[in-house]
Amino acid sequence: MSGLDDLPPLREVIARHGLSARKSLGQNFLLDLNLTAKIARVAGDLTEADVLEVGPGPGGLTRALLAAGARRVVAVEKDPRCIPALEEIATVAGGRLEIVQGDAMEFDASRLVPPVKVVANLPYNVGTALLVHWLTPPDWPPFWESLTLMFQREVAERIVARPGSKAYGRLAILAQWRTEARIAMELPPRAFTPPPKVHSSVVHMKARPEPLAPADPKLLERVVASGFGQRRKMLRAALKGLAPDIEERLRAAGIAPTARAEEVPIEAWCALARSLETTER
Ligand code: SAM
Repeated sequence: MSGLDDLPPLREVIARHGLSARKSLGQNFLLDLNLTAKIARVAGDLTEADVLEVGPGPGGLTRALLAAGARRVVAVEKDPRCIPALEEIATVAGGRLEIVQGDAMEFDASRLVPPVKVVANLPYNVGTALLVHWLTPPDWPPFWESLTLMFQREVAERIVARPGSKAYGRLAILAQWRTEARIAMELPPRAFTPPPKVHSSVVHMKARPEPLAPADPKLLERVVASGFGQRRKMLRAALKGLAPDIEERLRAAGIAPTARAEEVPIEAWCALARSLETTER
């Protein structure tokens, strides 16, 4: 796609616009356009999709998403210093790039036209909060059909963890309850400028048409948080504050009261959350 190919190297863009990386904004930039192209490919066919990109920074991934033929990219960036650099990309993007300056946590997704794919090299300091926000709307399916997101490797491992493993917990349950999640790419620190202290992974999550089992997301989150808050305790002890008859409710959900949180599969957590709805209302 001509125009995009003629843009200057990202190092030059960063120098010209004075985009020295700010730790407070989680700024670790991807400057290798082969790498950003690879991330864009993980998201699948973008030609019919609106892509929501969070934290485009100087625009390396933004360029790749446009070069992959995205119907439209809506890029939400908090740092005003990045906007002029992104505007240079917009001038050669044939109306396909919309830049929004602001906080992604406050972005109104209703302006996006389905199907929507979210693709982002997220700032680590807000990545988990944004993920939980996207995974826990009251209604399902959500506004997006897939999430392709960069995380620090340990967080990625927690998202895809299976019951019985150390990494299994709140993130695995919320993610796998409503999506099919897999790690699609691993990146060493040196892939970024400046290099972070940790390794990173790209996780691809495809929204399930229906969650694995019915449950109210807020209640499920609360039950799971209580269970894993004291993960070494038996559940009858860890959850005793939730209901006076918790042992009976655990049994009714198919969970042994002596089980520990990490042994319990997602469907059983949902059954327990459903049984607790009666104490909540
Ligand atoms: N996508 C770029 C890349 O791959 O080179 C930059 C990635 S950098 C890890 C994270 C970006 O998110 C930064 O540009 C930062 O300014 C931006 N950011 C941080 N917090 C944000 C927020 N709450 N909303 C939107 N953007 C944010």
